[in-house]
Amino acid sequence: MSTTIPYGRQSIDDADVACVIEVLRSAWLTQGPAIRRFEEQVAQYCGARYAVAVSNATAALHVACLALGLGPGDLLWTSPNTFVASANCALYCGADVDFVDIDLRTLNMSVDHLAEKLEIAERAGRLPKVVVPVHFAGQSCEMEALHALSQRYGFALLEDASHAIGGRYQDVPVGSCRHADATVFSFHPVKIVTTGEGGMVLTNREDLHQALLRFRSHGITRDPRQWQGEPDGPWSYQQLDLGFNYRMTDIQAALGASQMQRVDAFVARRQTLVERYRRAFAALPLKMPEQMHDAAPAWHLQVVMLDDAAWRRPMYDALHAQGVLANVHYQPVYLQPYYRARGFEPGYCPNAEHYYDRALSLPLFPSMSDDDFDKVVAIFSNTLREIAS
Ligand SMILES: *Cc1c(COP(=O)(O)O)cnc(C)c1O
Repeated sequence: MSTTIPYGRQSIDDADVACVIEVLRSAWLTQGPAIRRFEEQVAQYCGARYAVAVSNATAALHVACLALGLGPGDLLWTSPNTFVASANCALYCGADVDFVDIDLRTLNMSVDHLAEKLEIAERAGRLPKVVVPVHFAGQSCEMEALHALSQRYGFALLEDASHAIGGRYQDVPVGSCRHADATVFSFHPVKIVTTGEGGMVLTNREDLHQALLRFRSHGITRDPRQWQGEPDGPWSYQQLDLGFNYRMTDIQAALGASQMQRVDAFVARRQTLVERYRRAFAALPLKMPEQMHDAAPAWHLQVVMLDDAAWRRPMYDALHAQGVLANVHYQPVYLQPYYRARGFEPGYCPNAEHYYDRALSLPLFPSMSDDDFDKVVAIFSNTLREIAS
């Protein structure tokens, strides 16, 4: 094969390009009307009250943790089967991080493991302040059950929905925050909808919304209702917290707004391709994530779990040699050297490790042609049959 097929890539059309050019010729390049339009559009799409656009999802997780009051002495729990940013946000705030093992059916945080770990933590007087469920590969976690646990044990829920915009849970869009304090999206080019770099926090809580706006921009507010004491004059703003410059540009927001018009089409194509993978791979020695009855996943990733860990490396190499640029999502976060140095050991989350050792992510993106899809299926199936025999 002459060309290579990546595991994911963005879909940019002429309308996207035109929207970006329009902003470049306008008076505002950052924090102008395109940001507000994009925020309102995503909030409305998801059915959430507020949306705050930021420079990337890592920044979104950071400001969301700060807005939830996470700080030194506090604890954040997340899934080990995620990108490092879901855990790093706790450390940015001076808090500690711990991991809850996954459910091998969905590869999402296991509700049973979480319930068990909470019981133990309560006895030890060391409950988490924030739990970050990650909607792995685009399928929502079991938010209703997680929400019930959050009520019982008094922690906040911050959904890392970096993979999941356009997905639904219990027939409601991911991002509605019906069962969570806040939800984060990523608009990195490999995700469902892109702004180049970008992220967003959604919430229904007015207090969080105000805090997110401040933390996004240096901790500063121009809203007199939030001011302390008398302002110096009509030019005044006040810095109330130590915030950051995590702003998104209007250039990016215009791209995002244009992309959002196609989010349902993107997701529909992804769902179609995943269904075809399921049928094509039904007889192969591997497992694919189960789709929960009340989820309509956005399917950011097509992951497979090979029956034998010994096949993974030869499969990866053979696929790459044939132009199929498979990837692996994810090495459990706590096995990263930085987290090992914080005391985590192999064996900590056996399900996450079991999955990782057998994991491959195959090409999945809306602009993938039927021809390319058929090529990937043929190459993958033939190679696996050979390696497994
Ligand atoms: C991509 C990703 C992030 C970080 O997103 P950026 O926008 O690149 O900062 C966080 N969490 C998960 C699960 C991701 O996949």
